[in-house]
Amino acid sequence: MSAPLVGRLAIIGAGLIGSSIARAAREKGLAGVVVVSDRDAAVRARVRELGFADEVAETAADAARDADIVIACVPVGASGAVAAEVGPVLKPGAILSDVGSVKASVVEQMAPLVPAHAHLVPAHPVAGTECSGPDSGFASLFANRWCIVTPLEGSDPVAVERLSALWRGMGANVETMSPQHHDLVLAITSHLPHLIAYSIVGTAEHLEQTLTSEVIKFSAGGFRDFTRIAASDPTMWRDVFLNNREAVLEMLGRFTEDLSALQRAIRFSDGDALFEHFTRTRAIRRSIIEQGQETAAADFGRRSIPTEKAPQP
Ligand code: NAP
Repeated sequence: MSAPLVGRLAIIGAGLIGSSIARAAREKGLAGVVVVSDRDAAVRARVRELGFADEVAETAADAARDADIVIACVPVGASGAVAAEVGPVLKPGAILSDVGSVKASVVEQMAPLVPAHAHLVPAHPVAGTECSGPDSGFASLFANRWCIVTPLEGSDPVAVERLSALWRGMGANVETMSPQHHDLVLAITSHLPHLIAYSIVGTAEHLEQTLTSEVIKFSAGGFRDFTRIAASDPTMWRDVFLNNREAVLEMLGRFTEDLSALQRAIRFSDGDALFEHFTRTRAIRRSIIEQGQETAAADFGRRSIPTEKAPQP
């Protein structure tokens, strides 16, 4: 049997993404040892029960010591604190990475805390569900999904390739881009759609009680998909918007202009404008399905949760 890609893989934060990486790495034999840490003792106990880690460490520093690759799987706003804790114990040649949904801010927070003898290689798996915590992860979460690796200027190409190989090993397709470009692209493809979902579900919630219950009772595909997105973790998404403010505000400006154009078309009964717009957007949906990033089923771009993991009603 060939040697695993990574000797010792440390995961900091046993949530959806951290526990999925641990499960995938174990299932695919990508690491000699998978060590997981979480700040919460109850979560550490649950990780032991679930059995997806070879070792459970009390602290992030304990997990990172002697690790070849350390992946911070915490909300974007906590990346600096994790780097401050693990930075001093990183061994020569170790790679510190993350999975945050925003990249420039993560680089700003982490880079000053990584010693010269180690490498910072940030990454973002574009895969998820609306669930959180160690029970919600699953090994196939990253299969045939993108993982965007965002090296810094001057990053060691060997370290970048090593981290990329780990993601490919978990089934992801790896793309490389700058942290700034990542943040602009994700602002429109992920952050703005989440903001719209949070907004529209909030609007429904503000309506008087009777109407709200009718909204829930008759929720068809459209609204139901929005509620699924709006159920995403509040801490994670608060941090995304606070840390990708400029790009989100830029995309929000464009969105409101385009929304006003549609509003105008409805007001002036401009059916041609509406038809032409909807025809163009339909073509985008088709090309996403053709590229294998989505099925024809309505899951709002999210991986459907395996039946045994599906949340109980
Ligand atoms: P999650 O299931 O809520 O897990 C978050 C983890 O971070 C938990 O282990 C939590 O510890 C820990 N944590 C929270 N605040 C912390 C702090 N201040 N210091 C140290 N640890 C802290 O979230 P997730 O979905 O795995 O998200 C983790 C990261 O992945 C985020 O940066 C997010 O942007 C990124 N991401 C998420 C998705 C998605 O769809 N969910 C997709 C791609 C990337 P406790 O156990 O104590 O709560």
